[in-house]
Amino acid sequence: MKTKQYVFFFGDGKAEGEASMKEILGGKGAGLAEMTNLGVPVPAGFTISTEVCKYFYENGEKYPTGLDEEIEKNLKELEKTTGKKFGDPKNPLLVSVRSGAAVSMPGMMDTILNLGLNEEVIEGMLGKGSPGEATTRVACTARFVWDSYRRFLQMFCNVVENIEHEKLEQVINEIKAKKGIKEDTAMKAEDWQEVVVGYKKVYKLEKGREFPSDPKEQLQKAIDAVFGSWQNPRANVYRALNKIDEKKVFGTAVNVQAMVFGNMGDDCGTGVAFTRNPSTGENKPYGEYLMNAQGEDVVAGIRTPKHLDALKEDNEKAYKQLLGVFELLEKHYKDMQDVEFTIENGKLFVLQTRSGKRTAAAMVKVACDMVKEGLIDEKTAVLRVEADKLDQLLHPTLQSRAKANFKLIAKGLPASPGAAVGKVVFSAEVAVEWKEKGEKVILVRQETSPEDLAGMNAAQGILTARGGMTSHAAVVARGMGKCCVSGAEGIIVSEANKEFRANDGSTRGSTLTIKEGDLITLDGSMGEVFLGSVPTTVAGLSDDFETIMKWADKYRKLGVRTNADTPKDAKTAREFGAEGIGLCRTEHMFFAEDRIFAVRQMIVAETLEQREIALKKIFPMQKDDFRQLFEIMRGLPVKIRLLDPPLHEFLPKEQKDIEALAKEMNITAEKLKEVVEGLHEFNPMMGHRGCRLGITYPEIFVMQVRAIMSAACEVAKEGATTRVARTENVGTGLVSVREKSIKPEIMIPLICDVEELKWLKARLVPAIEETMKEYKMKLDYEIGTMIEIPRAAVTADEIAVEADFFSFGTNDLTQMTFGFSRDDAGKFIKEYVKQKILKDDPFKSVDQGGVGKLMEMAVKLGRKAKKNLHVGICGEQGGDPETVKFCHRIGLNYVSCSPYRVPIARLAAAQAAVEK
Ligand code: PEP
Ligand code: MG
Repeated sequence: MKTKQYVFFFGDGKAEGEASMKEILGGKGAGLAEMTNLGVPVPAGFTISTEVCKYFYENGEKYPTGLDEEIEKNLKELEKTTGKKFGDPKNPLLVSVRSGAAVSMPGMMDTILNLGLNEEVIEGMLGKGSPGEATTRVACTARFVWDSYRRFLQMFCNVVENIEHEKLEQVINEIKAKKGIKEDTAMKAEDWQEVVVGYKKVYKLEKGREFPSDPKEQLQKAIDAVFGSWQNPRANVYRALNKIDEKKVFGTAVNVQAMVFGNMGDDCGTGVAFTRNPSTGENKPYGEYLMNAQGEDVVAGIRTPKHLDALKEDNEKAYKQLLGVFELLEKHYKDMQDVEFTIENGKLFVLQTRSGKRTAAAMVKVACDMVKEGLIDEKTAVLRVEADKLDQLLHPTLQSRAKANFKLIAKGLPASPGAAVGKVVFSAEVAVEWKEKGEKVILVRQETSPEDLAGMNAAQGILTARGGMTSHAAVVARGMGKCCVSGAEGIIVSEANKEFRANDGSTRGSTLTIKEGDLITLDGSMGEVFLGSVPTTVAGLSDDFETIMKWADKYRKLGVRTNADTPKDAKTAREFGAEGIGLCRTEHMFFAEDRIFAVRQMIVAETLEQREIALKKIFPMQKDDFRQLFEIMRGLPVKIRLLDPPLHEFLPKEQKDIEALAKEMNITAEKLKEVVEGLHEFNPMMGHRGCRLGITYPEIFVMQVRAIMSAACEVAKEGATTRVARTENVGTGLVSVREKSIKPEIMIPLICDVEELKWLKARLVPAIEETMKEYKMKLDYEIGTMIEIPRAAVTADEIAVEADFFSFGTNDLTQMTFGFSRDDAGKFIKEYVKQKILKDDPFKSVDQGGVGKLMEMAVKLGRKAKKNLHVGICGEQGGDPETVKFCHRIGLNYVSCSPYRVPIARLAAAQAAVEK
């Protein structure tokens, strides 16, 4: 019987794996196999599968039987393919060992290069081992040999043995200081040789044994370390931030691959390139490289790399070959690729390809262009744009005229677009701390590393002094959708003194010191840094964005409405394509300066008559509010929720306000204070709010429905509303619904029992009918309810008999299902997510396993009682892409979210519809 295969070979134009085996070979391994099969020049090697990693963690860090033999067999094959031998001083095989999970986790795990080096091999490479027998291919300089060896020792000590980087760095610094050397480039062969001796001493001191010289032992330890890196803190933070579910994609593969060298001389080089521009999406390769360097030098941002175009001059043959490879890869993968390459003695090798991370603007442009180029279809294009990232396009940019009034203190690379204003901080920890205190911060670093991830996430934007467009800061910021300026070489950062020096904005070249806490503004689209807080504007949307949205609308089945309480919100939402209002919180209209007095009078009234007087004052204001919403929405559905929050929220708290109100109402301040105190509640979220207010003070709800219906009648009479069609999911798909007239949707909050709804309807329906009679009009209207209390979800079949529609209030439903106060949960939810007790904050994304189950149950029960019951969601989660997709799956008719999230919801809805 054939045992399970754990190791997969690639080389010489053929591979045992292929792209479809990503889950077991990891993204990198699958890519290498696929490229090998395509005929791309890839150094040979083998991949140890993710299943070994899984086995390793499930079996107390042990490997499956037979693995050693499989590795040995593949190593032999590699020796045969390359014509070199592991540990052979005359013709040594050197390998790289790298991790590679099924999902891309750039910079998150570990790499060891030049493995296989030891003193004997070194001697051989230097041509000293056996007299007369210089090594074959690696006819290299002594400097290259010692530099390679110290790099290997450094990575091995760091990654495999966890020896602190600083201890090794100290060795180099001491040698540099002793010899008066500043830059690495000035280090000679003998200097690196001294570093090697120093590193080995550190190793012995730390580990109590000699550095392992047997290449096989080195390899085994490196494999152990890569599998071990799957659970290191950096990788865990990355997975948590990027919502990578370990249950779905567990483990990394290990790729062992023959080394090729970009640092063997001036006809060698290494680089990272995108087949299209990852910032703008322009269909022109974009990349960076360094001659005479090793791969890590480009991404680490230690030397600022050259633009890919310059490679044409440096090595035209390799440049042309590279462009050919780009074309081949794009045609094959039908997506923009991110390619790592090395040129060894003028010969091109491709080390990695993966789908390239890109900004939202690039995502949209590349998707549209690829449809035009016939590479992908519209549905694929819709799937290519990450809904969450659209935020970047809707976010502000700097007002160009305002810029002139601020000092431009530095210029760097436009690494990730957008604008960010914040206080300068110099460490990831401070960034996190200040963010938690409610501050907006800009993280300023010499260069970033994966350790800075949490700080980058907390910051509004990132500024680095070193590093190119493919540096860690740039790649990570783009992925996060954060504004970033990288490689601002004019600034001098002192992380220790918590300050940076920059040009003072004048032409005299004087400098200026910016300290922790000072305000700066970044323009990530231009690569500019300003002193102070520059005003911003919202970005204009491109034609390509409109095209993607058009396709999204073509394929989605869910309707998308907005939560809007003001004319401004309603207008913005319409511009973003909202198909109506899913929630208007009327209490927000009560807080306005000019009406709070009347509202307070309404609340403290002791008799019905007194209250009616106050309500009469409020009525015209409410009617006017609703008129404006109906006018802006021009016949699109408008769902208005009757008053919800506890009454005491509106009452005066300051003595001077109490006195003023008492005077206006002709009562004493003491009396008013008594009333205010009487309204105090211990747990207002579960107190006298929502429909409970309507039951104790029906006249308030009656006033509101009269205002709604009056506004509707007036606007309908003016005839502004007959032309608009709305599209919503009715049974099988999107249909256009032509509104003959305005059809107000009145929503009752916080129902827990059908009797509440019945009781209120018995009082509201007559008021509605009467109002229409006054206007001599007959409009269609609906009265429905929010489902935001678990009891309502459980008894949805009873409630549906009385309700024209349901709308899930998932803020309250989450609060009451979990028993987490929505106002206080912020204090502990983060820890729950960090400790993986919860996968995500349930107030951001609907908890599908609990709250979601209640929703699904309510939909089923509701529609059992009323077949075509119209159901939506209006909690904050309604704009979260995962929640939108969930709502599609459970058959909701629409989602409603804040105006800026409307395009995100439209796109997510389309993705839900076209995703398999
Ligand atoms: C909800 O509870 O989800 C909701 C939309 O209502 P509010 O946030 O106003 O309580
Ligand atoms: Mg609510």
